[in-house]
Amino acid sequence: MQDTALYQYLLGLKSPWTVRRVELNVKGQCVEVWAEHPEGALWSCPNCAQELPLYDHAEERTWRHLDSCQYETQLHARIPRVECGEHGVVQVKVPWAEARSRFTLLFERLAIDVLGQCDVTGATKILRISWDEAWGIMERAVKRGRRRKVPKVVRRLGVDEKAAAKGHRYLTLVCDLEEGTVEHVAEERKQESLEGYYQGLSEEQLAGIEAVAMDMWAPYIQATLARVPEAAGKIVFDRFHVMGYLGKAVDTVRKQEHRALMAAGDETLKGSKYLWLYSRENVPERRRDEFDVLRRKELKVGRAWAIKESLRRLWHYVYPASGWKFWKRWYFWATHSRLEPIRKAAETVRRHIDNILTYYQHPVTNAMSEGLNSKIQKIKSMACGFRNVENFKTAIYFRCGGLDLYPC
Ligand SMILES: [Zn+2]
Repeated sequence: MQDTALYQYLLGLKSPWTVRRVELNVKGQCVEVWAEHPEGALWSCPNCAQELPLYDHAEERTWRHLDSCQYETQLHARIPRVECGEHGVVQVKVPWAEARSRFTLLFERLAIDVLGQCDVTGATKILRISWDEAWGIMERAVKRGRRRKVPKVVRRLGVDEKAAAKGHRYLTLVCDLEEGTVEHVAEERKQESLEGYYQGLSEEQLAGIEAVAMDMWAPYIQATLARVPEAAGKIVFDRFHVMGYLGKAVDTVRKQEHRALMAAGDETLKGSKYLWLYSRENVPERRRDEFDVLRRKELKVGRAWAIKESLRRLWHYVYPASGWKFWKRWYFWATHSRLEPIRKAAETVRRHIDNILTYYQHPVTNAMSEGLNSKIQKIKSMACGFRNVENFKTAIYFRCGGLDLYPC
């Protein structure tokens, strides 16, 4: 088999394209392939598909293709131009690459696979492409995937905020809790950040939303109330966020009590900070005895912790009536505990209780997409490499968007 025929086969070139010449550039560790076409071939206008004769050629261009063994493969060709009555003089489409890409389709597919498996720096080394080329491939892939995405009803949404890379800039993430995919990424955590997502939905999609899990965060609440029909019964405040409030209150009680004890020379609470932050079952084995002893002492933080732990039962009820009954008892206990931080936290919970207990109708939490969270965490940990928020967004869609990223 001749080298030209071999490469014609390897590149998958179809009529009218053939391989004219193949050169092995040993010094440059590169195989160079020139593609050409016969005279008189007809080409279609990329805009209207009208068949037209050759007008002229654009400058020779080069595409990176899959390596030939350890050698990089470069494909060279001059792209024909046609003169269309309607669209003027335009370049035709070549079958091996997307317009303006410097890679062949097959190389781009490989790059997408590699970029999906390792971080960007790693991928640039494996693929021997530059940092900007890697991001270019990811951006194009995301654009392609989002363009192809078929609109559908997302029944259970999770709205979450993520601190973006450095500084205190936030991103708002809208997730499909059933599919475990990120549907929308917006900057900031304002009402507009979330409204931008709802605005892109059809009436049918909006009406199809059954539940929205979120933090007790006013801008998200407002956006949802403004856009989602009957939103009042669909918002479910994330239980872990609610418990986070109580956890903070316990910590405040501990701090205050520790300070008071230390003033009297009592070191009882020294080094106990993390013990009180654990849930009952998460206290490490080696510290269980120590914690049991502390809990049996008459400490304010001990009471605060018990009140917090008991609230977790709220999410175990099946019947709303029993849940509400429990809530009333708990609220009385918390507000009569003479522990100011606990009382305050209980008030915050009370103000939001209607949409905390919507959990009985819609048992959703933002932790449902655990896999998604850990993926985003990983993306964030490579955030030192992000030059801007735009890249962070691209990476989230690329890895978590559930998109069809490949060029066709
Ligand atoms: Zn045309």
